[in-house]
Amino acid sequence: MALQHPRNPFSCARRAVAEEVFSAETARVPTHALPPGEMPGEVAYQIVHDELMLDGNARLNLATFVTTYMDQYADRLMAETLDKNMIDKDEYPQTAAMEMRCVNMLSRLYHSPDPDKATGCSTTGSSEAAMLGGLALKRTWQKKRKAAGKPTDKPNLVTGINVQVCWDKFANYWDVEMRLVPMEGDRYHLSPEEAVKLCDENTIGVVVVMGSTFDGSYEDVRRMSDLLDDLEQRTGLDVPIHVDAASGGFVAPFLDPDLEWDFRVPRVQSINVSGHKYGLVYPGVGWAIWRDADALPDDLIFWVNYLGDEMPTFALNFSRPGAQVVAQYYNFLRLGVDGYRSVQQYSRDVARYVAGEIEAMGPFVLLTRGDQLPVFAFALKDGVENYTVFDVSAALRERGWQVPAYTFPKNREDLAALRIVVRRGFTFDVADLLLSDLRKQVARLETLPAPLVRQDDAGGFHH
Ligand SMILES: *Cc1c(COP(=O)(O)O)cnc(C)c1O
Repeated sequence: MALQHPRNPFSCARRAVAEEVFSAETARVPTHALPPGEMPGEVAYQIVHDELMLDGNARLNLATFVTTYMDQYADRLMAETLDKNMIDKDEYPQTAAMEMRCVNMLSRLYHSPDPDKATGCSTTGSSEAAMLGGLALKRTWQKKRKAAGKPTDKPNLVTGINVQVCWDKFANYWDVEMRLVPMEGDRYHLSPEEAVKLCDENTIGVVVVMGSTFDGSYEDVRRMSDLLDDLEQRTGLDVPIHVDAASGGFVAPFLDPDLEWDFRVPRVQSINVSGHKYGLVYPGVGWAIWRDADALPDDLIFWVNYLGDEMPTFALNFSRPGAQVVAQYYNFLRLGVDGYRSVQQYSRDVARYVAGEIEAMGPFVLLTRGDQLPVFAFALKDGVENYTVFDVSAALRERGWQVPAYTFPKNREDLAALRIVVRRGFTFDVADLLLSDLRKQVARLETLPAPLVRQDDAGGFHH
């Protein structure tokens, strides 16, 4: 974000001052203990600024789903609101009002049956929103069990093994057993048929992912719901669905409006979405949206004073930045439905184009094509033995591109792939630069006698 940094603090005259301060005993900056004394702001600025040069370039980061480009008006608004605390609803009532308007807009976008009573909140990201969604499922299940005089000590949650780490955290922090459906063959996400087999009276819900982080594919919410309807008919078990739409929640409504994955499916009780992914806001905002007020148990809600009124809140954090929520509201106003559609359509067009070009290069096989999320994964064809996807990732890194390579989980640990996430700001022009670098590097890698980077040397999958 282009905040108002002092411009070029090391102009010639200033450089002399800074160099003097910086000489002798301050020549080495302490990194693990507080320095004993002060230093001029411009010196400290330059030290921090210089060190950050070693970070990757955010715009060349094709690993992240998180927004790396906003326009100048968003930058300006965020700079103006950096001091606002989201929890101070009484002091910043208009920021609070914008948050509620965003919840209303999302509730309508997701076809809530009663959007006038929209239920939801902003969060730090999808991780917090997932925790809240999961907690509501757990509490609802506990209440039903208690009312029936049944034990509540063994809750479980059913998901695909491809779920994002936030669900492992949820299960760990709140003592819920994770029941994971493994991958099989060329199925890299949840199988509703396998998921339903894992459900029992202790299942608090099934998480269905709209946009798997491994390959950008959508899971089938409608099919999952149909199979759970069938389970209910057969056994009486009523298992709800939470949709993890961290990325897809801002893609599917605009590009695939007929796809029924949201509250149009009655079994869907809650949805999490990352404002800072395809919601197009810089890192720090997500949303948790419930189908209606009944889907969120009252006893999870705390009340805070808001303009002399009591206002409900449900969150893990107390203080949180308000600027991201303001920026989300700005985006909603600025882009509207048409704007979001055209931004995401452009990203999908770029993703499909890059995927097609990579497929045509020869050594690669596509696992997905960028036609759901604007994200796709690709692997090396069988028979390519003298270099690995980890070599390809390292070779691209030489030119500044960050394209992660990673192995898949159970039962496809044998599969190693690369993934490209196309986001706003990744244009056809930039895509052509990436493709040209990839072609050059592949030609070089093909002359290798043996791989340079093997799977064991490469890091794990962190996204
Ligand atoms: C990114 C992601 C998350 C975590 O979201 P944050 O907003 O980074 O906390 C959860 N689920 C899925 C499917 C994701 O892609």
